[in-house]
Amino acid sequence: MALVYNWQLGRPMEFPHRAEKYPKRQFAFVFNINRCLGCQTCTIACKSTWTFSKGQEYMWWNNVETKPYGGYPQFWDVKTLRLLEDANPGRQVWDATVTQSDANRNPRPYGTFKGKTVFETAGKGQNPDTQQRVLGYLPTDEEWTAPNIFEDTPKGVRGKPNQPMPDSASKPEHQTWFFYLQRICNHCSYPACLAACPRNAIYKRPEDGIVLIDQERCRGYRKCVEACPYKKAMYRSTTRVSEKCVGCYPRVEGSDPLSEGEPMETRCMAACIGKIRMQGLVNVDQTTGNWAEDRQNPLYYLVKVAKVALPLYPQFGTQPNGYYIPPRWVPRSYLRQMFGPGVDAALEAYVRPSRELLAVLQLFRVTQKIIFRYEIVEGEKVYETTVDGKPWAIYNDTVIGYGQRGQEIVRTTIEEPMFERPKKHANSI
Ligand code: SF4
Ligand code: SF4
Ligand code: SF4
Repeated sequence: MALVYNWQLGRPMEFPHRAEKYPKRQFAFVFNINRCLGCQTCTIACKSTWTFSKGQEYMWWNNVETKPYGGYPQFWDVKTLRLLEDANPGRQVWDATVTQSDANRNPRPYGTFKGKTVFETAGKGQNPDTQQRVLGYLPTDEEWTAPNIFEDTPKGVRGKPNQPMPDSASKPEHQTWFFYLQRICNHCSYPACLAACPRNAIYKRPEDGIVLIDQERCRGYRKCVEACPYKKAMYRSTTRVSEKCVGCYPRVEGSDPLSEGEPMETRCMAACIGKIRMQGLVNVDQTTGNWAEDRQNPLYYLVKVAKVALPLYPQFGTQPNGYYIPPRWVPRSYLRQMFGPGVDAALEAYVRPSRELLAVLQLFRVTQKIIFRYEIVEGEKVYETTVDGKPWAIYNDTVIGYGQRGQEIVRTTIEEPMFERPKKHANSI
């Protein structure tokens, strides 16, 4: 058992695994839910690369589900939330007061979680011989059969047309709503799958924090499947061992022949049609395990500076490294239980983006290479208006992305260049 500081919870936390060195860098990503069209190109990019074989028919390391009703496996989040609530009734709450004191060692960007995590509620009231290290459950076979069940099914009142709630002009909550939730393994800083494995078959790679299952050591006990609150560890009946997203590590480490030695984004990220995904590597502070300050890393900027992207169910306690820009039309109470108390500030930042945020958002999907640093060259003002009664302007700035060796890998402007096809090729590419 180790006592660790979980910065997403704003407090120390018990983690039922021996203390190890933190990885040098951490695989992380930001998904902008507002832009996803549910096309599942990401899902197929992963499946056609990693899970197309016998025994993997129902295995989707990447899936995009329709919230609030959908889920893969079905009801994964509702079931885990209920287990937590049953173990700590009425006390799974946040104190959303954000304090700045001691902000480097003990950051509290979303306040403090007063409830208990999947680690802190495990094994309560059970026979010690059969105690779980992590609170969880094993989904049934039926629950794994449909990766996007209830596709496009909205929540609303039957027979009543949609009426936006008069909350604000730019981000009205809708009474009839759904949204797509894109999901892969979060390569958590405190992985529940790893903590639960009795064979020590799961490990975090020291170079990039990618969480892998050693296929030789695994005996298929499925403790990881039971423990992962995101249900991103899966059992394969033909090999009788568990498998999970491998973070496309050959691409991330630059050993894939396509990458020409440069770290590349994963298959599911690179294939994204809606340009909603950005993935990269952040430096890890070796004393605290938190992200080390790196102001010009686009992921660091989005999560730690602009605070526009939030962790999925931070209250589970695994400190996931996947972050989401929440959808602006969805009732806030739903979003807050899913992404924590940072929702309102994140939406505020997103609907009236600063000049810098607008530029960083422009870097999504402009290159397959991993961007380690960005710079902005200021341009002319091209548009001005008011948002929520406040003035807001767009400048045609240029944003430049740099690779691992500090070399320029991409350059783009806020105003995207327009190309007109010549008439004689109007219907061809
Ligand atoms: S999301 Fe689940 S499978 Fe992935 S690292 Fe976290 S606990 Fe493990
Ligand atoms: S990172 Fe790679 S292995 Fe993981 S879900 Fe995406 S495509 Fe699949
Ligand atoms: S490819 Fe991108 S836009 Fe399409 S479903 Fe996946 S995340 Fe959404």
